[in-house]
Amino acid sequence: MVYLNAVKKSFKQGPHKTLPVLRNINFHAPRGKTTALIGPSGAGKSTMLRCINLLEIPDEGALRVAGKEIRFDKNEKYPPLGKSHFIRQKEILDLRRHTGMVFQNFQLFPHKTVLENIMEGPVLVKKESPREARAFALALLEKVEMSEKKDSYPSTLSGGQQQRVAIARALGMRPDVLLFDEPTSALDPELEREVLKVIRTLVEENNTMIIVTHNLLFAREVADFIAFLDDGEVATYGTPAEIFGRAMPKRVTDFIAAMSPEDYTI
Ligand code: ADP
Ligand code: MG
Repeated sequence: MVYLNAVKKSFKQGPHKTLPVLRNINFHAPRGKTTALIGPSGAGKSTMLRCINLLEIPDEGALRVAGKEIRFDKNEKYPPLGKSHFIRQKEILDLRRHTGMVFQNFQLFPHKTVLENIMEGPVLVKKESPREARAFALALLEKVEMSEKKDSYPSTLSGGQQQRVAIARALGMRPDVLLFDEPTSALDPELEREVLKVIRTLVEENNTMIIVTHNLLFAREVADFIAFLDDGEVATYGTPAEIFGRAMPKRVTDFIAAMSPEDYTI
């Protein structure tokens, strides 16, 4: 469903310095499966996710989402989004429409109610009728157990509730792939649990998902595949049994040991 082929991305750090963040990413997230992305802080996990929905434009390599492919060339100039006369921008927006993103800090629209947050994209971007969008939004709120709060504003909700709404909002766009960037990192354990419960339901429904997480227990439990990102490369990829097994490179076992409660110390 999602392929990254030799994707590279650097950031400018002043006039003469560039920081290579994604050195050479080769990655595949299969349809209907959940892939967890783990690795140390600064490894490039967020940047990789942002490249998949083109919030960041890779310098080089190719990206394929839901059968649509874009190739990148560092010599190509990308005008800012919104200048619709560039065909390239349309290509980017088209591809982005196949993805739904859930951020660590929720990023709901503060001046819209829960229901309006979910309906906004389908109505404005996908041109669904308000009636249709509303019906789907209500069904999604039921799925994330937030029906009672449909007319509330985000600021009146707990972090866990906001994140569940954010998940419903992402689903509202009927994406082919859901991207989660540390969806529970800002939450207390109790609130984390209610969000993980929703994500678990999505896993069971065979959605295609890529989840950046520091919760290795959760990754081990729900992911079909785990990619270990280190220093801008997918250093290791495998099933949870393989990743948590003993035959992994030392940097993987060290990372797991450092990140984990006692029961995951290898
Ligand atoms: P992770 O999510 O694995 O912690 P990130 O992808 O957020 O890692 O960041 C990887 C590196 O890229 C970090 O050193 C970070 O400072 C740098 N970086 C990320 N985004 C930008 C940006 N927009 N501009 C400059 N540097 C960035
Ligand atoms: Mg990150």
